Amino acid sequence: MNSSVCEVLEFVKENDVKFVRLGFCDPFGFQKNISIMADELSFAFENGVSFDAHAIKGFRDVMRSDLLLFPDPATFMVLPWRPGPGRVARFYCDIKNPDGSVFPHDGRYLLKRVIEGCEKMGYTCMIGAECEFYLFKIGEDGEPTGVTLDKGGYLDISPLDRGEDIRREICLTLEEMGIKPESSHHEQGPGQNEIDFKFGNALESADNLLTFKSVVKSVAARNGLFASFMPKPIPTAAGSGLHINLSLAQNGINIFKNVSEGHSNIVESFIAGILSKTAEITLFLNPLANSYERFGAFEAPKYLSWSHQNRSQLVRIPAAIGEKVRMELRSPDPSINPHLAFALILAAGLEGIEKGLILPPAVDADLYTAPESVISNLTLLPDSLDQAIHLARDSKFVHSVMGEEMLTKYLAIKETEAADFAAAEDKERFYKERYFN
Ligand code: GLN
Ligand code: MG
Ligand code: MG
Ligand code: MG
Repeated sequence: MNSSVCEVLEFVKENDVKFVRLGFCDPFGFQKNISIMADELSFAFENGVSFDAHAIKGFRDVMRSDLLLFPDPATFMVLPWRPGPGRVARFYCDIKNPDGSVFPHDGRYLLKRVIEGCEKMGYTCMIGAECEFYLFKIGEDGEPTGVTLDKGGYLDISPLDRGEDIRREICLTLEEMGIKPESSHHEQGPGQNEIDFKFGNALESADNLLTFKSVVKSVAARNGLFASFMPKPIPTAAGSGLHINLSLAQNGINIFKNVSEGHSNIVESFIAGILSKTAEITLFLNPLANSYERFGAFEAPKYLSWSHQNRSQLVRIPAAIGEKVRMELRSPDPSINPHLAFALILAAGLEGIEKGLILPPAVDADLYTAPESVISNLTLLPDSLDQAIHLARDSKFVHSVMGEEMLTKYLAIKETEAADFAAAEDKERFYKERYFN
């Protein structure tokens, strides 16, 4: 047993932890867990805990349906919203086959592999995600309504903003869990909010994003509200984005730091790699039919382009200093599987460095109002789930990062979803029924 395992076991014994949730994420971003009693934890560290992988979408066929969850001690957290007596703790897990080999179709494993490649090249990738979400009222039947908590707009204060107490509670809960909230605000849409927490290394950041989403859901529910991470829950209001901020450190120093005075070649190639692959990986950055309603309005991008500061672009270099200098990828939305999405984005950037890709010139225009002469030179992001599926299916890059078996399963499920969407007469109803959660 390594020391962190011993420390965790000791903590569990000393601190009235009775239940331990072994968490993971399906390829489509849905969090799953199995709860074991705390005195089973030592056994779980050594032998894993089995589950039915056939019952998890995109995992395994019925003939090889046993997989094992091994808790990752580094992810141990006590859930503050399940207080004692009999506290509840949670881990994210490594997933293994019964013969002890790694189950390779888990997003968390994929991300770890891409991170290893990044470290071998001499870089550490830091990621910060900005997650937007809507708060809706709950009806007398206990089901969410389409009525937003308030009618506030960007950075509004109380009484227009009715989300301040919820955001406060979310921030305090994150802090208790060791995730450092940095800022929070009312976003552009009625009832729309954003809370930003401190960036970290890519794995930490993906894990934290899963935790963040469950904290938001549970704090909202405790306050009689419903939090939705749907990319475009209200057709006429701002969509919810999940901006992904990336930087690279070399020997502990952020190599994006001189980005505003002419970039280093490496940084330029990294950004160029991401720009060149965004269309092919959009399926994993915008996984729902509803994701495509968000593009091209309310500061969500529509074209494959980059610029400084400009919020109409896919990639933006925000004004910042020191360790906060970074690139911001603005197309992803909160419905991603963060591990899978981060793995693909990072792998795209690294391939850009390996190939020494040249960054195309910045497009210094407001792309919502730019003349045809500017727009006609730009490539569009995929504009439907269907198109995103085609691009992913034809992408050698996606095949190589995800592997044939995982990708084939993923595509089959998304193809069915796209066909159901095409067949649905009432698209708004389809969105609400499938995606509102
Ligand atoms: N809500 C916008 C989006 O969909 C972002 C707006 C903002 O963060 N200022 O990406
Ligand atoms: Mg933001
Ligand atoms: Mg925002
Ligand atoms: Mg942002």
